[in-house]
Amino acid sequence: MVDLIEKKRDGHELSKEEIRFAIEGYTNGDIPDYQMSALAMAIFFQDMTTDERAELTMAMVQSGDQIDLSAIEGVKVDKHSTGGVGDKTTIALAPLVAAVGVPVAKMSGRGLGHTGGTIDKLEAIPGFSVEITTNQFTELVNKNKLAVVGQTGNLTPADKKLYSLRDVTATVNSIPLIASSIMSKKIASGADAIVLDVKTGSGAFMKELNQSKELAQAMVNIGKSLGRETMAIISDMNQPLGNTIGNALEVKEAIEMLQGEGPDDLRELCLTLGSQMVYLAKQATSIDQARQMLKEAITNGKALEALKVFIEAQNGNSSIVDHPETLPEANYKLDVQAKEAGTVSAIVADKIGTAAMLLGAGRATKDSEIDLAVGIVLHKKIGDYVQEGEAIATLHANKENVSNVIEMVQAAYSFSSGDVDKPTLIYDEIY
Ligand code: URA
Repeated sequence: MVDLIEKKRDGHELSKEEIRFAIEGYTNGDIPDYQMSALAMAIFFQDMTTDERAELTMAMVQSGDQIDLSAIEGVKVDKHSTGGVGDKTTIALAPLVAAVGVPVAKMSGRGLGHTGGTIDKLEAIPGFSVEITTNQFTELVNKNKLAVVGQTGNLTPADKKLYSLRDVTATVNSIPLIASSIMSKKIASGADAIVLDVKTGSGAFMKELNQSKELAQAMVNIGKSLGRETMAIISDMNQPLGNTIGNALEVKEAIEMLQGEGPDDLRELCLTLGSQMVYLAKQATSIDQARQMLKEAITNGKALEALKVFIEAQNGNSSIVDHPETLPEANYKLDVQAKEAGTVSAIVADKIGTAAMLLGAGRATKDSEIDLAVGIVLHKKIGDYVQEGEAIATLHANKENVSNVIEMVQAAYSFSSGDVDKPTLIYDEIY
């Protein structure tokens, strides 16, 4: 291991055998944290070649269980987002693409931070359960084209251990390490093809567009090197996505999108990601045709029907689709007023996310309980004009004294006296 650290420190390429040696040794405890920290720091400064990144990814995939989706018919396309505030895309996108024949076999997790993960959001639907067996999962995807299961098995233990180490050694923010970490989890989950939604902006992991593009290209190259068709889009996270942040509120907004309503940014992002998924799943011969199919599935109600079938199949009460007012609802609705007049020029997504977490929509620590009913509804987004005292947002709360949260939402907004353009939603596509 000393030779290997030295080799990377001096800027040389590690061989496949050397990468395997380090990852296997670290996972089984033969290589101590201090040596792995030194290697991570050497990678941080010296970078890795495309071959090294692919090898590192595969070594982490093979450190644990791999999900076998071969009993599911068709090309299994997974979608992954690098994470953002108000990102309820999966809830709308999964039934949308399933409605046009794309098999969606999704393994999801719970959230930490601003709101819950996909599973928490789905659990806002009364009765909904992700506790299904592998056989049930396969059968449901073959029958309905869509099922979501909670994380099972021991997936990528090397990544878990390495990520914890990176977290305390200032080596998280490294493109080769982030890209291999994310891609190892996608590949271990069994996808044939992968569509990545890499967020950019103030509320994203990568704040600068050039960094986001670099990360996207790194992940696409790893996917392709390992025989998975992979593409990425770069999408905006300079403000929350859509208008809602909070579990039941986000489910409601996803339903609206499938009804052909709801905010434009959510709809456009779903159509962009969805058309790539449909194309990669070989259900359409062009991206344009795929987009047309998805629009039709919204207009003719097939996407909404796919959501109902999915909910029923996993023991949920699908009547919430036609009656979203029966989803968990908070006791108090408190408006947040603008302190000045002007055009909204920025909404710091992170602050809105933290505000939602303080209401109880997200987990401050892994063991916190979340309140599925609470959250924030934004009435004004970047480019909208606001009068002084007008409601910019409404808090859905289960406690009365939330003055700290009101102040936080107010502090997240900035105003300008002139016109402000709406931000670009999709910056780039990376192949
Ligand atoms: N998310 C991951 O899964 N891994 C990283 O390294 C960073 C973000």
